[in-house]
Amino acid sequence: MQLNFIDNYPVSSMSMRSIPVIDPSDGLVFDDIQHSDAQDIDAAVQSARGCFEGPWSRLSAAERGRLLQRLSARVAEHADELALLEQRDCGKPTKQARADVAALVRYFEFYAGACDKLHGETLPYQSGYSVFTWREPHGVTGHVIPWNYPMQIFGRSVGGALAAGNCCVVKPAEDACLSILRVAQLAADCGFPPGAINVVTGFGHEVGQALAEHPGVDHISFTGSPRVGTLIQQTAAKRHCPVTLELGGKSPQIVFADADLDAALPVIINAIVQNAGQTCSAGSRVLVEQAIYQPLLERLGQAFAALRVGPAGMDLDVGPLIRAGQKKRVTDFLAEARRDGIRTVAEGEIVAEAPAGGYYQAPVLLADVPVQHRLAQEEVFGPVLAAMPFRDEDHAVELANATRFGLVAGVWTRDGGRQLRMARRVRSGQVFINNYGAGGGVELPFGGYKSSGYGREKGFEALYGFTVLKTVAVRHG
Ligand code: NAP
Ligand code: MG
Repeated sequence: MQLNFIDNYPVSSMSMRSIPVIDPSDGLVFDDIQHSDAQDIDAAVQSARGCFEGPWSRLSAAERGRLLQRLSARVAEHADELALLEQRDCGKPTKQARADVAALVRYFEFYAGACDKLHGETLPYQSGYSVFTWREPHGVTGHVIPWNYPMQIFGRSVGGALAAGNCCVVKPAEDACLSILRVAQLAADCGFPPGAINVVTGFGHEVGQALAEHPGVDHISFTGSPRVGTLIQQTAAKRHCPVTLELGGKSPQIVFADADLDAALPVIINAIVQNAGQTCSAGSRVLVEQAIYQPLLERLGQAFAALRVGPAGMDLDVGPLIRAGQKKRVTDFLAEARRDGIRTVAEGEIVAEAPAGGYYQAPVLLADVPVQHRLAQEEVFGPVLAAMPFRDEDHAVELANATRFGLVAGVWTRDGGRQLRMARRVRSGQVFINNYGAGGGVELPFGGYKSSGYGREKGFEALYGFTVLKTVAVRHG
């Protein structure tokens, strides 16, 4: 039985209800978490407020940095335990679960070093005045975390908020709470004061909604679906609470005929099968210059056919999807593709050892997907890659920008001028040239154009979102 983590203590929800925790590799219940409600959120917000006004505000930036550095080291010491927990809770193959822990270690390390480097400016003004700015924390920040990368998104969001001097209330997705609860305990063990990090588990429409509504929450950071992003925005707007939204994408890999295909192919495949395609920045569309479209499809098809799917512990190319509902979402998309005559080029294989109760989906490569089709427009959030040809640079830009999203894009070409033209013309928060995802990129600002959301997380840039700027003007004659 897992408890909430409030004021540095594991506590039951006030309702004393629970939610079962399922292993996606076999569909079996192996634990349970608290089914919390608005009262638990209120207790967590009060604890965070007390910490923000008390011990947290008395720490210098350098002392906050030392605490975050200690937490980074503590997470690294517990890497095996956390990876196993994540593997079981989320169905992540071992390599992926370990990579997530490594990213968490880096987020805390990066933000530890950033704490005492966040400063204001002095501004020229009229004679007889000195004017300067302070970057102040919001106060209590709310963090609604999705299930696809719980540790990474916790690290980037809570790491940045703490570094900027805020205290946090975290609502993980009910499918992925265990690693976050454990990291909150590790933070308490290494000296974070009570209330700096609180974690309340439960359903989004109850506790997530209560967090977004709570008048004691000064900023909300949300990662998840566009639908819930809109709800959070509407709720927060009623009290003019600022929000940062990261709402996913339909990110293109744009491959020109002059590209180094040997370098591009493994990256393109990994970008869609990593985490079984349940990645906001998944490269879920591949746009290919006409001259190499058929040969590239053939090579991609061979690689897809060789992909193996199985239980997280087998550490194959692809693990299970997070839950039955997500598998249904993906199979519904594929049924729609079949109904509309979209060509399947190749499919991976689910290994015989995969338990029947697990949520397995073989990776699928689809060809000639019409640009207006839902498979070219909407996030499937599964290992499904949609390919389409383009004629020239203008057409590539048109297709790349033809969705409501704009999170990440990959451009593959050896032509230097084209690399920069494409980077300018594609409307997305990150553009990678001859690479994709840049190895996690803790240091690199990340966020959307258009319906992929707004505000930036990761990197130093995130600290501006986790602070408010105050201007102080002194008249001294
Ligand atoms: P979701 O509903 O948007 O969930 C994301 C987070 O928001 C979870 O912690 C969820 O809690 C919470 N939430 C749900 N309803 C809420 C509400 N009314 N108020 C406040 N918080 C709320 O995403 P999902 O249903 O798990 O996944 C659906 C689709 O969203 C996916 O197929 C994918 O396309 C997209 N998605 C994108 C990302 C991304 O990284 N951009 C991440 C996850 C999902 P509970 O889960 O506990 O209810
Ligand atoms: Mg689970």
